[in-house]
Amino acid sequence: MLPRIDYHLHTHYLKCANGTMTVPAIVAKARELGQTAIGITDHLNTLDKLPLHEDIRRDLEALEAPGIDIHFGVELNYQGCDGDFAWSAEVRDRLGFQFAIGGIHGTYLAEYDLKKIVDIQHRHHLATCRNPLVDVLVHPYWFGKGEFDKKGWPWFESMKAVPESYARELGQVARETGTAIEINGGANIVCPNYSPAYVEEYVAFLAVVAEQGCRFSIASDAHDIKNMSHAVAAREVAERIGLTEDRIWRPAAAPFVRA
Ligand SMILES: [Zn+2]
Ligand SMILES: [Zn+2]
Repeated sequence: MLPRIDYHLHTHYLKCANGTMTVPAIVAKARELGQTAIGITDHLNTLDKLPLHEDIRRDLEALEAPGIDIHFGVELNYQGCDGDFAWSAEVRDRLGFQFAIGGIHGTYLAEYDLKKIVDIQHRHHLATCRNPLVDVLVHPYWFGKGEFDKKGWPWFESMKAVPESYARELGQVARETGTAIEINGGANIVCPNYSPAYVEEYVAFLAVVAEQGCRFSIASDAHDIKNMSHAVAAREVAERIGLTEDRIWRPAAAPFVRA
């Protein structure tokens, strides 16, 4: 049995998650789900959002005997195609962030071109793995349905668009750099935008990545408290593709708040 953990959670402070995602409510829900360790990882798209992470930190410091181990992390997003993260060792240390997860959140294209969409994703996945200040690559091949709909594009409904060589290269680079690949229950597994057939293709993609020997992070990416159960779905996928506990990523630092 793999550990019951969730290292990708948002809070109400950054407004991407809704009002149900307060720090005390997240802790209570995690306990209800039987989780033993979680990490808070709200968005840091630009540095002007740092004060909101101070609010999260203050809420964590106020917890007493939460019953689960809690880490204080952050989710990074590229500032433009082939751009940088709003992130450095100085920013990390200023707030005491204990780990960083990050990745690409758009296609960066104006015209529909499926091969280009996939190539841009793959390039950013590898760049994220090679960034020594990032611990986990988030939700590979997640797309915002809203972006596709707004641009009038056909939806990304088959992982067959991703060459198997990309999956292998991703797993190899992740292993070499020590970066974990995220199994994201909310974005890639339980997401209502994807058919059961798509999810099966996605699990097959993860299995090819896993053959390369890298580690994986288990996560819900919840933006609403009821979606924290998606970490359980992610763990089930990790078990399905045959991962053992030594292949499951945990933050290197001691918990910010101990159980
Ligand atoms: Zn994300
Ligand atoms: Zn997220």
